[in-house]
Amino acid sequence: MGPGMTADTHIAIVGAGQAAASLAAKLRALGFDGRLTVIGEEPFAPYQRPALSKKYLLGEMSADRLTLRPESFYRDNRIELLLGAKVDRIDTAARTLALSGQTLNYDMLALTTGSRPRQLPSAIGGSLDGVYTIRTRADIDALACELAPGRHMLVVGGGYIGLEAAAVAIRRGLKVTVVEFAPRILARVASAETAGYFREMHLAQGVTLHEGTGVERLQGDSRVRSVILSSGAELAVDFVVAGVGALPCTELAEAAGIHCDNGIAVDETGRTSAAQVWAAGDCSSFPWRGARIRLECVQNAIEQAECVAADMMGRTTRYDPTPWFWSDQYDRKLQIAGMNTGYDQVVSRRTSDTAQSFWYFRAGALCAVDAIDDPRAYLIGKQLLQAGKSPDPAQLSDPLFDLKSLVARREPERAQ
Ligand code: FAD
Repeated sequence: MGPGMTADTHIAIVGAGQAAASLAAKLRALGFDGRLTVIGEEPFAPYQRPALSKKYLLGEMSADRLTLRPESFYRDNRIELLLGAKVDRIDTAARTLALSGQTLNYDMLALTTGSRPRQLPSAIGGSLDGVYTIRTRADIDALACELAPGRHMLVVGGGYIGLEAAAVAIRRGLKVTVVEFAPRILARVASAETAGYFREMHLAQGVTLHEGTGVERLQGDSRVRSVILSSGAELAVDFVVAGVGALPCTELAEAAGIHCDNGIAVDETGRTSAAQVWAAGDCSSFPWRGARIRLECVQNAIEQAECVAADMMGRTTRYDPTPWFWSDQYDRKLQIAGMNTGYDQVVSRRTSDTAQSFWYFRAGALCAVDAIDDPRAYLIGKQLLQAGKSPDPAQLSDPLFDLKSLVARREPERAQ
């Protein structure tokens, strides 16, 4: 048990998603023996979201395979799951939570409330029937009913989630149009080179792509029927997927007076501005190499949650991640390591018709790698980033150069 803990210590976790599942499991693995409660608004035990816009939407994965841990795990580890229960209020002075007519006391509290998709404004037709966002299992179960061959799906937003949905719809035989307000797809997250790779791939699969084009208005009586684009063009559509980014779920924390700054602001150990309250995952922002950042990825949800568990148990470690992420589109896998923020050089490496990687440098230092169908480039890039090493750009761009030599170099053996 951690310092000051007794068998009666109660740790409550609000939000039953990826971060909550890792946090609860890590607390038990570290020897926390007190009461442990995970409270989630959705009616399901913690499940993985990445598959939602990939195999689950495609119909190639069943709902039970989304679940992160079987029910027996929670039972065997005495983790109480309160599902379908929304926490409405936190009183950090009294150390209580208000939910569905009951009050729960806590000694330590973790907020893992995740993020929610931005909605298209009602003023432009965003609340018409047939307009979907992608975040929960319920969202996908509703959207999947629309995926009949020959129908026309409009995707608003050319980010990873919108492009994954486009790829699924093409594979299901739909007609797909993607509109991206920025001058190019993936503008916020990837280089022009990576975006170019995905643009070519989607065009080759039959997607119609309008970059530098916004949605002026979605039209229909109660259900969306057509869209007017900022170019003035009008397209008939059967339904719309809005993939226009996500916002951290901070309302509970804000109402409780906890400091928020692009997410629930935590320090390197995951502590918020309120005593005995931590946060992790999509909902939190944290200091990282001179900046405050917020990540929306599985790696962050797991590793930050584990860091919080360690801090709660008095085994403080500083959270200093090498972020990683992936996206599956058609039969291609993109793997990303690092953060490309502020990059000033991109080096392209092509080793086969499909395998390509893009290496980002900032002031001569490697900061990120996007590897498509090239797991070796991803793994070696990640190792280099973790070791703080930067390869020579000229070597990287030579497809015959063996990447393994960058990490496998042994120190010469010394004579005894
Ligand atoms: P979540 O998993 O969202 O869990 C938060 C939970 O808190 C939710 O269930 C919510 O209902 C609940 N909650 C919120 N407020 C309350 C309240 N007041 N009371 C009770 N419960 C509450 N990441 C990758 O790394 N790779 C990918 O390929 C990838 N693909 C993705 C595809 C999709 C469609 C989506 C939506 C996300 C994807 N992600 C991907 C991101 C990844 O899934 C998230 O970063 C991760 O789920 C974050 O975990 P979390 O625990 O912070 O939040």
